[in-house]
Amino acid sequence: MHLKKVCLQADVYMVCLQHALSTENFEVMGLLIGDNAEGVTTISAAIILRRSDKKKDRVEISPDQLLKATNEAERLTEELHKRVRVVGWYHSHPHITVCPSHVDVGTQAMYQIMDSSFVGLIFSVFSEDKGSKEQEVSLTCFQSDDGKSKEIPLVIKPTKDISTNCLKTMTELPKILAQEEEEMAEGTRNHPDLLVSIHNNAVQTRALGHVTDIITRPLVQTFYGRYESNLTKIDYLHKQIQHLERELQNQ
Ligand SMILES: [Zn+2]
Repeated sequence: MHLKKVCLQADVYMVCLQHALSTENFEVMGLLIGDNAEGVTTISAAIILRRSDKKKDRVEISPDQLLKATNEAERLTEELHKRVRVVGWYHSHPHITVCPSHVDVGTQAMYQIMDSSFVGLIFSVFSEDKGSKEQEVSLTCFQSDDGKSKEIPLVIKPTKDISTNCLKTMTELPKILAQEEEEMAEGTRNHPDLLVSIHNNAVQTRALGHVTDIITRPLVQTFYGRYESNLTKIDYLHKQIQHLERELQNQ
């Protein structure tokens, strides 16, 4: 069926954006989970994919990753009591425009052979507005149409809270990034030259420090802030209950 619109839940948007902003050196990507009804796709979860190849403009999803995502969608179907499946993919464009490249359109076309409503999201990050020098984030939603990219209307749907699943995905990000660094360092370990070895270890330590600095620490701070604000809310609601009970007694 012809895809008319895509609704992206705000908490999923947050997960994707957090992932896209985690590095400006290469493109990151993931898969989107949701459901499709009457030409409208609703995205309710995201899966962060680990990169095995850190070359620029190289975003590929291995069959193994796709299989894992399908299993995750099945698990979510049970957890949410709602039929969900893999409905699309997202990737980042650091320092470049949001427009899908030829490779992107080709990859997208390949997915559409399997599922005609499959959709692609691109987050352009770390781009500077020439006038104001402020950093901009742009987001586009596209499909392939006869070898060309076609924009699909996208709506970010507000959610009352961050779903447990999205929270889990957000806390998994630093772990995935640390694993990527670990894998990268694997091939360079035990170099016979002592100086090279020290250098390689230092590079890895710096990368891990970077993950802690830009992901883990802000995440802990954000969650702590939410926890504090929830405590204030609980306190307020308790007082409301007491107040209402008193009113009831006085009647
Ligand atoms: Zn791209």
